[in-house]
This record gives sequence, C-alpha cells and structure tokens, in this order.
Amino acid sequence: MTQVELAELTGLSAATVSNIVKELAAGGLVELSSTTRSGRRATQVSLARAAGVVAGVDFGERHLRVALADTSHEVLTEQRLPLASDHRGDAELDRAALLIADLLDKIGAEPHELLAVGIGLPAPIDTVSGQVGSTTLMPGWTGIAIADAFAGRTKAPVFVDNSANLGALAEHRYGAARGRSNVAYIEVSYGIGAGLLLDGRVFRGSTGTAGEIGHMTLDENGAICKCGNRGCLETYASAEVLLHSLRVSHGALSLRDMLRLAAHGDVGCRRVLSDAGRHVGTAVASLCNLFNPELVVVGGALAAAGEVLTHPMRDVVDRFAIPSAAASVEVVVGELGERAELRGAIALALAGIDTSSFLASSLDDKVS
Ligand SMILES: [Zn+2]
Repeated sequence: MTQVELAELTGLSAATVSNIVKELAAGGLVELSSTTRSGRRATQVSLARAAGVVAGVDFGERHLRVALADTSHEVLTEQRLPLASDHRGDAELDRAALLIADLLDKIGAEPHELLAVGIGLPAPIDTVSGQVGSTTLMPGWTGIAIADAFAGRTKAPVFVDNSANLGALAEHRYGAARGRSNVAYIEVSYGIGAGLLLDGRVFRGSTGTAGEIGHMTLDENGAICKCGNRGCLETYASAEVLLHSLRVSHGALSLRDMLRLAAHGDVGCRRVLSDAGRHVGTAVASLCNLFNPELVVVGGALAAAGEVLTHPMRDVVDRFAIPSAAASVEVVVGELGERAELRGAIALALAGIDTSSFLASSLDDKVS
C-alpha cells in the first residue's frame, strides 16, 4: 500500500505513518518504492524479505508443489514434482522438507528465516487428532499427525488443512471469490472435494470433514469407491475414471493429453469431461440446496477444461437445485488454476504467524 492508503486504513495521521515507515525501513523490515496513484506520485510500502519467508506445500494425489513466499504474499520461488498414486506420508514429508531447504538455499535465505509452513492434503484432516480423518482415502498417511511430524523436520510452526479448503481460501483472497462471502470451491482432479466459505470463513465442520462431496452417493448400487462405499461421485468423475473410460478408444492418455485433445475438439475427450461436469453438477445442486452459496468456483486439474466441464455442471444445477438457490448462484472457473491450493497453503502459513507481534519483536532486535 502507499503511505496515504496506510494512513486511511489505520486512521493514523500522515506524519505518524511516515515516522513508523521510516523506522521500519531503517530496521530493514519494509522496502519503499515509487508508484503513481490517480496520476500522482506516491511511496509504495512493501514488507521486505528480511522480515522472513513462509513455505507452502501442496500434496496432490499425484503431485507435490512447494513454494516460498515473503510476508507480503509474493511467491519467490516454487517447484513441482510428480508423485506415485500410493505415496506414503513419512517419505513425502521428508521430501517436502528437503525441497524447502533447497528453495531456501536457492533464494539465499537461512533456515531460521522460515517463519511458518502451510501444508495442504487432498483428504479430510481431523481437526482434533491432526491426522488424515480416513484410513482408506490416503492409506500411506494413516496415523501420522502431520503438523507434529513435519515440525520435527523444520524449526518453524506448521499448519495443515484439506487442500480444497486451501483452494477456497486462495480464490477468496487472491482470485475469483474476492469480496464474496458464501462460496463453494470445488476441486475436481484425481479426487473431488469442496472447500466451503460461510460468511467469508472456511467452514470445517465439527472434526474437519465438511465438504467431502467426492464421497456423496450418486448410486447406492454403483462401483466400489476407494472410501469403501458404493457409487460415490468420485467413481463417476475423478480424473482416473475419465482416463480409464477413454482406454478402449484412445489408449493410455495422460490427464494433460486428455485436456489438450478436448481443447482441440476431440469428441470422446469432450464427452467424458462434459459427463463429469453433469455428475459433479448433481452433487453441487445438493450443496446449493443445503447452504445456498452465491458463487461456485471450479478448481483442480480438470478445471482447465473450462466450459466443457462447467456448462453441463451449470445445466444440472439449474435442473436439480431449488429455483431460488439455482438462480442466485454463479458457476465460474477459478482464476488461480492448478496453483490455488499452493497459494492457499501460503495464505494459511501467513495467517498462522502473528505479524504484528512478530514485526514488533524483530524491530526491537534490529533497531535497538
Ligand atoms: Zn467414496
């Protein structure tokens, strides 16, 4: 923000803001640059990297993304790795810790500059035990209290959440859901989950399982799902199921192949994606009846299919949701793409550090 904006926001006088900013700049905690606002020159104040960095870690069903960001939410560096479908918690937490160390090294930061770590996982995180709240959804992670286990690998405090919740948080903070209060973020990838924002805050339920729409029953006689139930939404619309249904006609495709072919008009690939949109739409229609969101943001790897996926979803919502719930909801593709969950992990880490007391204490260190 500019100094004028800081004065407006805090209610402090321009002279007071100017003095505080000078002091923080002397301590190396903020950086100043020139900018123009409504045609006038102004001084932009940003948090300096010297204030420290946070790490975001996004575990997908098939990928690991790690990024470092400064305290003004700017991503400084990031890396993505593929993961095996049956990845195991201990080995992957080790790998994520090593990646964070590598990235710190890459930007020339010391390990003690890491202020906090935010981790997202595509599974319900039990808010009481801190473990994955299901023994079947991510079997390789059963029994691991993730934050505690990772805190032993870094010195920084660790915060963990379900990745759809983090996608919702990121789209709300930086993307398509800015300024909205009641939002459902639907992550459609190898797994399907929802992050729910109620009155602008993530709703986790009593133990962290809220939003597990991937395991909503569409057909009680349907195929067995990895959760042990039958006919869940994921058995109709997960990336794995879509790729499997293209096997006979297209051979073994990767997810990217399928999306690329669909974008070039391949009718088979467009068909499986639009059918997936209809199935997800059935679950979203129930969600609209239950909590009446103003906005549904579609994220996850399959969201890159765009309207091929979201048009049929919208049609089904109109068809099955109560008219007043359907009429008031907008269905859009997320603005942050596949990085929404990673950006959410960064936002989670930043929310976890008490910036004001942290700035005060480091200012004491540096100025005195
Ligand atoms: Zn299931």
